[in-house]
Amino acid sequence: ARFARLRITGFKSFADATSIEILPGLTGIVGPNGCGKSNIVDALRWAMGESSAKSMRGGEMDDVIFAGTLSRPARSIAEVSISLTETAGLAPAPFQAEAELEISRRIERGSGSTYRVNRRETRARDVATLLADLAAGARNSAMISQGRVSALVSARPDERRMILEEAAGISGLHARRHEAELKLRATEDNLSRADDLRTQQE
Ligand code: ATP
Repeated sequence: ARFARLRITGFKSFADATSIEILPGLTGIVGPNGCGKSNIVDALRWAMGESSAKSMRGGEMDDVIFAGTLSRPARSIAEVSISLTETAGLAPAPFQAEAELEISRRIERGSGSTYRVNRRETRARDVATLLADLAAGARNSAMISQGRVSALVSARPDERRMILEEAAGISGLHARRHEAELKLRATEDNLSRADDLRTQQE
């Protein structure tokens, strides 16, 4: 899969709708300090499910919404959409056959955020699984943010493993395995309960 386009509206310093085409090859973002370069990366991470306040350089969830300036009123909604291409065969059902996927996250002040995949409302957890599957594809994507390189160097071995697993795109698969294990256990419980009932009837 490959990032093809990023659309940002009302997110951090992007008060107006902004569309960024990401062409094949190397993409650089240049601009003076404070012009919003990091906000572009934050938008990408946010749309992909990042929500920890610390890593978003902000406090509350709603802080990602354009807060207004001296000359412009604040917005009440922020939305970020990522278009991914070359996704056919990488995504789980029902998106398996889609050659292009659009993942959108939208937040409204005071009412939390929702996700959509190709305009269909999707649970955060399913977006995470989808991204894990896409990342596990042939050419996976990894995000190394400011400060992460030094974190890697000074991390404890178990922390370092977590960072590397995240970069390798397999941390999502761990979450998925955990979910599958919980389901398995619940099913085993049901089976033994059914067994008990059967022996009682015999
Ligand atoms: P640097 O080179 O210092 O990292 P940068 O180009 O990466 O700068 P960012 O950190 O992406 O800049 O952008 C910071 C700007 O975004 C600041 O001017 C800040 O006021 C603005 N900003 C962040 N959150 C919001 C928000 N919710 N509403 C409005 N503006 C915001």
